[in-house]
Amino acid sequence: MISSDQITNRQRVKRLLEKPGNGTCADCGAEDPEWASYTLGMFVCQICSGLHRNIAHISKVKSILLDPWSSSEVEFMDSVGNEATKAKYEQLVPAFYYRPTHTDCTLLREQWIRAKYEREEFLEVQRQEPYSAGYREGFLWKRGRDNGQYLSRRFILSEREGVLKYFNKHDARKPKAIMKISSVNATFQPSKIGTPHGLQITYLKDNSTRNIFVYHEDGKERKLWTAFNAIRACQISRRSARVLFSVAAVSELLPKLTRNFIKEGYMEKTGPKQTEGFKKRWFTLDDRRLMYFKDPLDAYARGEVFIGSKESGYTALPSLPPNIQCSHWQFGITIVTPDRKFLFACETEPKQNDWMAAFQTVINRPMLPQEYAVEAYFKHKP
Ligand SMILES: [Zn+2]
Repeated sequence: MISSDQITNRQRVKRLLEKPGNGTCADCGAEDPEWASYTLGMFVCQICSGLHRNIAHISKVKSILLDPWSSSEVEFMDSVGNEATKAKYEQLVPAFYYRPTHTDCTLLREQWIRAKYEREEFLEVQRQEPYSAGYREGFLWKRGRDNGQYLSRRFILSEREGVLKYFNKHDARKPKAIMKISSVNATFQPSKIGTPHGLQITYLKDNSTRNIFVYHEDGKERKLWTAFNAIRACQISRRSARVLFSVAAVSELLPKLTRNFIKEGYMEKTGPKQTEGFKKRWFTLDDRRLMYFKDPLDAYARGEVFIGSKESGYTALPSLPPNIQCSHWQFGITIVTPDRKFLFACETEPKQNDWMAAFQTVINRPMLPQEYAVEAYFKHKP
């Protein structure tokens, strides 16, 4: 039998969700959390509640809708809440530090939750990993460019040189690749790489995008997370230390830091003459660069298109020109740039809508001064 007290308590907990800050998950920002940590006093989404179970010595979770609540638990939840928990556990989050959202993978969320509550990294600077120590060295499994086999490679991140590099032989003196940290992007890609701890690193070489895919074995995911944040720390290292813990600085720093791709997926494309047959390719929209690959795990983009802003003459249309009919997929997209038209086709209408929304986001955003230089490079590319 459920007592009337318990029903009242559950209603009281539910009402607490209306208090400022409690309407979104305290860890990933997902809307309408249905779980709560009754030892920390905050509300979380179902996925984050599952990750709190991994730190059960610190955080105990229960369902707002299904579990019984005692009066003292409700009072505790009322006295703390998401805003107070964040004020405590996120007080010293460095500006470069990656804060996962509800669309991020489990590794990112779990490491964020462990850093906050288990290691209490943001309560005292001394408890933090030395992210911006200037030099890191370690081994990662890297996918071979040609055979797709993963081999152990030595990586070095050097803030002084402003580079990330890796070596093919463990005792090699000459690196196999030197990546300028200012051109590096890194994103966790578990499903694409096929391992829970897979990281895609892209960088520019002669202004073209190169991909490398790496992972750490199970149990070492924290090291990969640390390396990821160390790359971000390195990307702002030339800035003053004053911005280290400033939330206001984050928006200023964002263009310098690693970012998630706006969208990825298959589309068909035709060539510049628009008479060739449409071919299926893997597309990645990374900020203003639309790249395409024969295989999602290719090392090099086959081609890249710069997507500017509407003020600069760029448009995306959800159709193909009337004289074009040869696509195998039916849902066309035309990207008009000042120089030419690019024709794509999507498999389904929802996919076409998703791509259109992604292109509109980029086109509707005014260009930054440095983006004109990138555009100029694309225009004069051989
Ligand atoms: Zn969450």
